[in-house]
Amino acid sequence: MEDIPYINELDLKGKRVLIRADFNVPLDEKGNISDDTRIRGVLPTINYALDEGAKVILASHLGRPKGKFIPEMGLATVAKRLGRLLGKEVKMAPDCVGDEVKTIINYMGQGEVVLLENLRFHQEEEKNDETFGKQLAELCDVFINDAFATAHRSHASNIAITHHVPECAGGFLMNKEMSYFEKALGNPMRPLVAIIGGAKVSGKIEVLENLIDKVDKLLIGGGMAFTFLKARGYDVGKSLVENDLLDMAGKIIEKAKTKGVKLYMPVDCVAADRFDAAAETKVVAIQEIPPDWMGLDIGPATTMLFSAALEDAKTIVWNGPMGVFEMDAFSRGTYAMVTTVANSYAVTIVGGGDTDVAIHRAGDSAKISYISTGGGAFLELLEGKDLPAISALHKNKVKQREVT
Ligand code: AMP
Repeated sequence: MEDIPYINELDLKGKRVLIRADFNVPLDEKGNISDDTRIRGVLPTINYALDEGAKVILASHLGRPKGKFIPEMGLATVAKRLGRLLGKEVKMAPDCVGDEVKTIINYMGQGEVVLLENLRFHQEEEKNDETFGKQLAELCDVFINDAFATAHRSHASNIAITHHVPECAGGFLMNKEMSYFEKALGNPMRPLVAIIGGAKVSGKIEVLENLIDKVDKLLIGGGMAFTFLKARGYDVGKSLVENDLLDMAGKIIEKAKTKGVKLYMPVDCVAADRFDAAAETKVVAIQEIPPDWMGLDIGPATTMLFSAALEDAKTIVWNGPMGVFEMDAFSRGTYAMVTTVANSYAVTIVGGGDTDVAIHRAGDSAKISYISTGGGAFLELLEGKDLPAISALHKNKVKQREVT
């Protein structure tokens, strides 16, 4: 993993510190924030910068305004919530670049906080435009990237800006995400067990290929298991199968064998006569799915099999639900896994997509060692890729070393 400096290694006193955060929070129909986890996640970095005597400038995107000014996607609600969480005023800037913003920042005192308006109101942000990155850079002396959830994107506020600010570093959230990931896949306590579920194999081929090289056991559940089961020769009725990926699934099964990785797949499932919360259902062995039925959750025997496979785990990485957990009738398998993982003595790391939703709903989030705040970014790490935002901070560090 590329090494980068973190905020606590820099002198922030009296400096203008621009923190790229991910305040892309969910909003309800009235425009109120329905979950402020992402805002809370950045508080340690903001508070640290304030304690060190910095002038704190915050930047984020919200939604997908695609380069247009859309008032409903403004960050004023975030400023209000953040102000309440910090116990101090967070001033809202009318834009994220330009003369008016510069003037506001020029008048900032130590210990003050300004939130810039939605970065994506400018199309240059998503284009990683160099001039836009430079305009953002002109607002600060130090750049801190704490937006892990956006770290897989190459945008101006996490890449181009680093070309124009000499002092750049990651924030505490970025540090936490990267170090837990390192604990999980870089240098894990073994046995390392991965649980991969969710809808399709196609979205997770690279994840599976990368994990096969690293884990001791791999548990495959969710819709994607049926492509693997079919590749093994089972008739899985109308279950979700990607026929074009049967060869690929077969290769992954072979690779697991060659590498000595223990591969676990469902032995039974909750089958339904249609994809519907009110469908007729029955628990059947995997060999006995009726031709017109589909498997929408793992069954009780699979839950026991998977739980037993997790018993000696020292590290567990989990991505993707075991069934269509959004419907009560097909949620039991996922919730049973939540209980097993939550009560395990292993280091448990969950991320990417819907798995965290199931854990929060089960009320077990406090029992998980770490729940990643990034969906796409976490998946890219699972795929074995470098994150562009981390690479940019790393390159900046190398460049600074050459200069000094
Ligand atoms: P992903 O984003 O790939 O992690 O997929 C998450 C989605 O997979 C959830 O919305 C689940 O409803 C869906 N899913 C899980 N198991 C199945 C299944 N057996 N058949 C169809 N969809 C499933």
